[in-house]
Amino acid sequence: MFERIDYYAGDPILGLMEKYSADNNPNKVNLGIGIYYDENGVLPVLDCVKTAEARIADPIAPRPYLPMAGLPGHRKGCQELLFGKDSQILQDGLVATIATIGGSGALKVGAEFIHEWFPQSKCYVSDPTWGNHIAIFEGSDVEVGKYPYYDKANSSIKFDEMIAFFETLNKNDVILLHPCCHNPTGLDLTQAQWDTVLNVIKARELIPFMDIAYQGFGEDMDSDAYAIRKAVEMGLPLFVSNSFSKNLSLYGERVGGLSVVCLTVDEAERVFGQLNAMVRRIYSSPPSHGGHVVDIVMNDEALHEQWVGEVYAMRDRIKAMRLKLKSVLEAKIPNRNFDYITRQNGMFSFTGLTPEQVERLQSEYGIYMVSNSRMCVAGLNTSNIDYVANAMADVLKD
Ligand code: PMP
Repeated sequence: MFERIDYYAGDPILGLMEKYSADNNPNKVNLGIGIYYDENGVLPVLDCVKTAEARIADPIAPRPYLPMAGLPGHRKGCQELLFGKDSQILQDGLVATIATIGGSGALKVGAEFIHEWFPQSKCYVSDPTWGNHIAIFEGSDVEVGKYPYYDKANSSIKFDEMIAFFETLNKNDVILLHPCCHNPTGLDLTQAQWDTVLNVIKARELIPFMDIAYQGFGEDMDSDAYAIRKAVEMGLPLFVSNSFSKNLSLYGERVGGLSVVCLTVDEAERVFGQLNAMVRRIYSSPPSHGGHVVDIVMNDEALHEQWVGEVYAMRDRIKAMRLKLKSVLEAKIPNRNFDYITRQNGMFSFTGLTPEQVERLQSEYGIYMVSNSRMCVAGLNTSNIDYVANAMADVLKD
């Protein structure tokens, strides 16, 4: 009966994680999946999260279903982080926000919404992008196209080509954008470039869909949200999906949010209702534990401040690893330019290694990165960085 079911080859990034776990090399290093490990190579539990969990655990409370849209404090936490605490559109009730099952859940509900209410719209993603963007939108029967982004030859962004491409799109086409810490390239637009992009979006009446999974890992909480806040200032309708997986180190709790900025209160109420309806028919309501953690940390002033400090400590450790990696590689291969390593933001570095070089790192050194050459810099620490840098230099030189 099921013999005709297609075989699933597995997710390339999650599959890499399994391969890494099975590797017996004592020096193995996991730079594949986008997870932040601390200086000791351990997945951290943030102190602000420990405090929130202690509060949740005492007294142990009953677990009713949450509302379809999640906890009000979780939703408010998303809104204030994305749009700013004193944002006028929040005071005016123009933003429909639901708590979601991670950033992926936000993308899924957003994709379903686009499919149902903008059935003619195509969704354009950067070339390259996080692979699941394509899978999620196509899985909701939204046609996906790619816009020019990464310039391999110069380790930079094909900005002019990208703008020229946007100029060819149709009204209500969706453009999926990464406001900060682009995955996988680590290359972000400048504020002036964002202004240009948003002007084209406005002129051509395109729909921006901003997916922010690394807020706080680029420059700071506010600068990382520049594109979102500028779009709001320009009066654009806007979708924002956000994830707390990385910046609260709550990967497995699956916490995120989907916000839709509307032009009137009536629109915001309609959109909010439809988002609830969508959640009801996909998974009914979100899980509660992570939602309570988000609620507590985002809405308690002292914990929030502690949280921001903890995110910046993660950000700074990654930046230090970038500097170190660059300096070892420059010393080993002086005639090659490694500036791109420190020009890139967030967890990832697109190293430009060929698939063969990536494969050699894996088989000869036990160093795992994604075959498109994406390295998770947050997997480096002072104990493994020399090993990794030397191995990279070896495969680059041969
Ligand atoms: N968007 C981007 C760009 C991501 O990198 C990720 C996580 N890798 C997500 C969304 C999804 O986040 P989550 O794990 O919270 O579903």
